[in-house]
Amino acid sequence: MKPHQSLFERGRKIVILLIAFAIFFGVAGLMFSADNSRSQIIYILCSFACIVGVVITSAALCRCPHCGKRIVNGVLVVKVCPRCKRSLTTGKKIKR
Ligand SMILES: [Zn+2]
Repeated sequence: MKPHQSLFERGRKIVILLIAFAIFFGVAGLMFSADNSRSQIIYILCSFACIVGVVITSAALCRCPHCGKRIVNGVLVVKVCPRCKRSLTTGKKIKR
């Protein structure tokens, strides 16, 4: 059985993947292709598309599964919802 994965976790994984691709395409475009060549433009466009994907994914999926608050800042590191103080991965209430 696959362990249960919240929408937030899935969104975070997609965001990480897209950021990695954006960096990869950006580096490839700047380092491994001639200036103003067609391949460089394609790499930069792919990188840009990945960044757009990050924005769309984080807007659609990176929100608290409990209260619906959108997690924008620190989406890759935050573990607890700043509004309802529940864990974003397990849904357990964090006691302080
Ligand atoms: Zn919340």
